[in-house]
Amino acid sequence: MAIWNLGSINADMVYALPHLPTPGETLAALDLQQFLGGKGANMSVAAARAGSHVCHIGAVGSDGKWAVDRLMEYGVDTRYIDQIETPTGHAIIAVDRQGENQIILFPGANRELTTDQLGLAVSQAESGDILVLQNETNMQAEAAKMGRELGLRVCYAAAPFDAEAVQAVLPFLDLLFLNEVEAQQLEHATGKPATELGVSDVIITLGAKGARHFYAGTGEILDVPALPVTAVDTTGAGDTFTGYVLSGLDRGLPMPQAMMLATRAAALMVTRPGTADVIPDLKETQDAQF
Ligand code: ATP
Repeated sequence: MAIWNLGSINADMVYALPHLPTPGETLAALDLQQFLGGKGANMSVAAARAGSHVCHIGAVGSDGKWAVDRLMEYGVDTRYIDQIETPTGHAIIAVDRQGENQIILFPGANRELTTDQLGLAVSQAESGDILVLQNETNMQAEAAKMGRELGLRVCYAAAPFDAEAVQAVLPFLDLLFLNEVEAQQLEHATGKPATELGVSDVIITLGAKGARHFYAGTGEILDVPALPVTAVDTTGAGDTFTGYVLSGLDRGLPMPQAMMLATRAAALMVTRPGTADVIPDLKETQDAQF
């Protein structure tokens, strides 16, 4: 089986600054580091490192070849990533000496996907494959509808939260991922708890408290507590968790086992600074002692 991920690819440019700039100020950075980022890329790397065949559907500009190469290095199938004229999506992340940050996000090529590109990719998927979406690209609703029609398992991480985008894909979903804040935002937007919106499986991640799975069919709830680690950087923990759950399901694991593996990978992830570049592989995840 395979996982098809319609997802963002970003360059995360992290500038170390003596302080965050005030309006009108010109400030020399002390350091610059560039990382592969974007929720989509993080999830693709996580699912690929967990052992799945992951086809990433996305777009970069002519400045994004390195990002595609990096995804390929991590085992992601990059055949469905187009190179277009719009620059690659990027985040300009300013960090001061106290670790406080300011972020400018430029979606760029991530929001320029076309129906043709999407159709070409998704038509290669087979019934039972997983299609996963987040909110940093365009075309989510079209993809979800197409996926449902083709018998794919349509999964969606509702981040960054956008009430309109979430409601457009809801009718086509098999599995919905939310963090605690997104679950509240969705309830606020729809007037109903996330578990009563007609999606059969809902997973709500609760940071250091773990994650909860609701199965609408039976009303069953499964709680998977987080593992006791010292967190140094929680960025990407949610994406790693999602990628690992999807890979577990793709490889035939029952939901509880998939969530336990994802919890181990996410726990390792919060002990490491960085995002896509430090996502653990399956062996590390299985062998880790907590
Ligand atoms: P992010 O946006 O930072 O990637 P998120 O808000 O989408 O994260 P969280 O709910 O914070 O997602 O975390 C996802 C999973 O990561 C949790 O369900 C848990 O298993 C693990 N996790 C998060 N924080 C911690 C922590 N401090 N210690 C151990 N595990 C953690």
